[in-house]
Amino acid sequence: MSIMSVPKAPRIWQLAERRYRLIGTQCLKCGRVFIGPRKICPQCGSRELRDIELPKRGKIYSYTVVRNPPVEREKQGPYIIAIVELENGCKLTTEIVDCSPEEIDIGTVVEAVFRKIGEEDKTGVIYYGCKFRPVK
Ligand SMILES: [Zn+2]
Repeated sequence: MSIMSVPKAPRIWQLAERRYRLIGTQCLKCGRVFIGPRKICPQCGSRELRDIELPKRGKIYSYTVVRNPPVEREKQGPYIIAIVELENGCKLTTEIVDCSPEEIDIGTVVEAVFRKIGEEDKTGVIYYGCKFRPVK
């Protein structure tokens, strides 16, 4: 299959897709998968890459509890930032939600959820993205 057969979409749409559906990029030459858009494979230098949908489940690889959040987040209290290893081996940095730090550990199975990631700004835009929560 040639990369030329992949339909091109407007850039804005592509970005939204990546944000909302956990889209990654796979190198067609060496098979490596990356989080987020790539034009050139950092592994083998190939330019033949395609978009793939990433698994929505993974497990916590490492995490840290942020107890002194930045000013704009203060009202939400401590929060958890984790590196999640997806089922295909990809790792991404994300926030763990819907639980307290006592409920998670290294290896806890988590799933992607769609959440607000920022407050509405002056232009009225609210930012959404993927976070993860423990699978009950
Ligand atoms: Zn490659």
